[in-house]
Amino acid sequence: MLEKYAIDGYKDVFLSNNIGIFGCPIGHTLSPVIHDNLSDYLGLKEKYIPFLIEDDLEDRIKDAYNDGILGLNITVPHKENVMKALVDIDEDAKHIGAVNTLVRVDGGYKGYNTDMPGLARAIFSDGITLDGAKVIILGAGGAARAVAYMCGKYNASKVYIINRTVEKAKQLCGEMNEIFGSGAFEAVSSDCYKDIPKDKYIFLQSTSVGLHAGDGLPLIKNEKFYMMAKAGVDLIYNPAETEFIKLLKKQGVKAINGLKMLLYQGVMAYELWNDVKVTDEMSDCIYRKLCNRLYGNSKDDIKVLVGYMGSGKSTIGKKLAEKLECPFVDTDEYIVEKERMTINEIFETKGEEYFRNLETKVIGEIADKYPKCILSTGGGMPVREENRRALKNIGKVYYLRTNADIIYDRVKNSSDRPLLQGDNLYDKICNMLNTREPLYFMASDYVIDVNDSISNIVEKIISV
Ligand code: NAP
Repeated sequence: MLEKYAIDGYKDVFLSNNIGIFGCPIGHTLSPVIHDNLSDYLGLKEKYIPFLIEDDLEDRIKDAYNDGILGLNITVPHKENVMKALVDIDEDAKHIGAVNTLVRVDGGYKGYNTDMPGLARAIFSDGITLDGAKVIILGAGGAARAVAYMCGKYNASKVYIINRTVEKAKQLCGEMNEIFGSGAFEAVSSDCYKDIPKDKYIFLQSTSVGLHAGDGLPLIKNEKFYMMAKAGVDLIYNPAETEFIKLLKKQGVKAINGLKMLLYQGVMAYELWNDVKVTDEMSDCIYRKLCNRLYGNSKDDIKVLVGYMGSGKSTIGKKLAEKLECPFVDTDEYIVEKERMTINEIFETKGEEYFRNLETKVIGEIADKYPKCILSTGGGMPVREENRRALKNIGKVYYLRTNADIIYDRVKNSSDRPLLQGDNLYDKICNMLNTREPLYFMASDYVIDVNDSISNIVEKIISV
């Protein structure tokens, strides 16, 4: 039923117990990056499927329910219309007047709005607080409604809303004042901006001005106006820096774009669908993946390979180094040379903690010494959070994923693996893999399945 609306690349995915998004257009959605990675991190087998839904929304929602879809995101142009197709709606979403997340309940879906708390989580994570703050919102469209509601909910003391069409700003302010029982919201037309008292404000840029090159500043072109900003958020995330962001940064003011809002609305939808808590570390990892996808990554010069022992890091790394004409560096070999002891000797005489501290120390050292290289890491390297962060800071990280059977075959006759000594080798591998797999996911920018020929794997690493 719903199957035929899945976009190319998802046509053969079984729908039951999966999640997805309805919208039009939908081909360029970044949401699979968020949700598929969360499923990987949390070990949940949910696929996120984009569906191109142009019309007949209510029928498609019914199809989704009958096909067993667990949860959906709803995007442009359906965020308001979808409300009549739901069996229940969260109070905040009712006030905002838009729903972007559907959670499966008895008899249908319940609607939520995670744009609002997603934006709040994004700005709080950047140290911007709203309690008692004075705010200027630029824009009075759909997104600005969620932004205004957030300001009321988190107790902003004064909110000026400026919009090209001032009637829309007036209407929005009237509704917000009624919901929050205050007179905190005040509409201003764009040619009366000088009426706003001189003070320091958090600027929340919610117009679509800035999406296109040459758009310039939103609504008010006078740069002096923006000197009233003590912090700024632009809901636009592509381009990464609009004129608004550039200007605030030039003035030394903290200014963030809307990518974290996109991230956290997705994270919060995922939490609702699966009743889980996504950690800050997981969110950070996905944020990096979104940045890589959207803005590219300038740290191309060091390619870091992580994965369990026996996953082929050395073999693949050496081939990769050959192909890219750069040095191959192995952290274990680097440590052995530095300490003049084998790994087994370090473990026996100085202990595992000492070895792990060495691993942490050598990441920066190697990056300084080999600014362009292929870096193969010890299997335990990504266990420490500080190592995961450090590896990502020096380059792009590739997780070479394999399975317990292949690893067992490759390491069963090896005697230089201190953590795999003694009996029950296969069980030890399985246990360690279960513990480490989520950490490898978090450590990496890309997951590369190594069930392929070496040359194909090398090509894949170069092309992703
Ligand atoms: P919308 O409902 O169409 O509203 C557009 C707003 O921009 C209105 O206030 C409109 O003013 C104003 N505007 C448009 N063109 C203008 C121009 N040339 N000069 C002055 N003002 C202009 O759109 P929306 O859904 O609110 O989205 C607004 C922006 O937020 C978009 O850029 C979107 O990408 C971004 N957004 C980001 C996220 C995220 O996750 N980061 C989520 C949602 C939206 P009028 O009322 O006078 O037309």
